Amino acid sequence: MDSCIPSNLLERVSLSDIENEARDFALCNGVVFRSKSLTSDNVVEQAPITIFPSPFPRKYFELSLSMQQDVNLLMHRISFNHAFLKASLERTISVDEFTKNLFEVYERVEKEGQSQPINFNLLRADYMLDTKKEELELKQVEVNTIAAGFAIMGPKLSQFHHHIVSKYGRPDDLKSLPENKCDYQFARAFIDAWEVYGKPGSIILFVIEDTRTLNISDQRSMEFRISELRPDVKVVRRTFAQLIECAKLKDNQRLMIDHNDEVAIVYFRYGYAPDHYPSSEYWSLRHLIERSRALKCPSLNGQLAGVKKIQQIICNKDILEKFIDTKAAERMHRTFAGIWSLDKTEEGDSNYNKILQQPSNYVLKPQREGGANNIYGENIRKFLLNVESLDTREAYIAMDYIRPPVVVNLISSPIKLSEGNSLFRQIDSELGIFGTILGDTNSIIMNREAGHVLRSKRICYNEGGVSSGQGVIDSPYLF
Ligand code: ADP
Ligand code: MG
Repeated sequence: MDSCIPSNLLERVSLSDIENEARDFALCNGVVFRSKSLTSDNVVEQAPITIFPSPFPRKYFELSLSMQQDVNLLMHRISFNHAFLKASLERTISVDEFTKNLFEVYERVEKEGQSQPINFNLLRADYMLDTKKEELELKQVEVNTIAAGFAIMGPKLSQFHHHIVSKYGRPDDLKSLPENKCDYQFARAFIDAWEVYGKPGSIILFVIEDTRTLNISDQRSMEFRISELRPDVKVVRRTFAQLIECAKLKDNQRLMIDHNDEVAIVYFRYGYAPDHYPSSEYWSLRHLIERSRALKCPSLNGQLAGVKKIQQIICNKDILEKFIDTKAAERMHRTFAGIWSLDKTEEGDSNYNKILQQPSNYVLKPQREGGANNIYGENIRKFLLNVESLDTREAYIAMDYIRPPVVVNLISSPIKLSEGNSLFRQIDSELGIFGTILGDTNSIIMNREAGHVLRSKRICYNEGGVSSGQGVIDSPYLF
């Protein structure tokens, strides 16, 4: 199935009517970003979206949901395994300054002794379908362990597509739209974690970017969901720069901000890229937060568990089995694409030569989050030829290129689409499954699968950043 757009749609409705309807739904329901061009905080524009849900095989959708608790557990257990993190990242931190800085703060706190033994995380595992073999395969792209976005936009798109399919589709089509409540599931997880912290009146701190927040609906609405479920739990949003001024530790490592507000949870929507830490004061602040008694979402060990080097290392099934049971490991391992080390070892050299022969079969990835960091196609060859004699190679991993199926959909975007005026586009999709976990090194307090988001991109792009305009928010039509 390459589309679920009804074949007689254009006999019933004009494209401009349906485009207006999509835009207005987006504007009326907070499927919006702050405008980049108009810098008033009071101006938003619709986020780019698909007008119909995109087809996604039910079998693989259900498989990805059913694996999420294992994915949560895997990342949780890796984050508590100091020896494994240290051994796995040893070479990476010798060449990658940012990972080294993260690791140093983490190790310092390990040595000083943790004042909060419990880890809390809100994750998103991303998958694409691969068409390279005769039968489709589900392949994991990555697991995001910090600032996993779209937990608000995911359900909003499900709601929009429910409206569109009710209006223009066949009645049975609604059965193909899965329920999606990740907004409330994340909010519930925040409340679970807040209760575990156990101090009435304590607050949840959202650490946000130093610049204008463009993805405001996804961030703010999470706060609104929390207050809807628990009006007594307050969220405060602060930048690193503000926290440098006002955060301190008091009475047994309690994190206090502003006028003595005790922080129960620090939720990082920021802090995952080198330029988020422009001076040593920022690293000192991260250290202060890390050694506090507040729950961190994520703790530094959780953030480190999500780096791409770790993803490469756990591709080895024997290593994977150290963290989750054999059956779960076998099932998950089948969703791993080949990921290859570029270390300066015999194995790394052989991978290097193999990739140089067929660069278009791979993606090179540094230890970064947030999109637009990877290297593709012919640029891989150029890059590898330049770094052959340098250690820089060790900061990257290479992943087999996934070739997802192409589907057709209508796109509604505030950005003018370049080719022609038609809204029809060929796109491919990446499914994100959310998960929430809370526990210490011995026991799990909460571990749940928590909904989904589908993001699609036009096939002419390698990556589909939604706020940068290449990607669109979507939802799955199961078949
Ligand atoms: P980031 O941490 O920057 O999000 P990702 O590993 O998710 O890094 O890669 C960014 C994007 O690149 C993905 O959303 C996907 O569109 C594309 N991509 C990543 N890995 C692959 C792959 N193996 N094959 C094809 N596309 C990929
Ligand atoms: Mg990603």
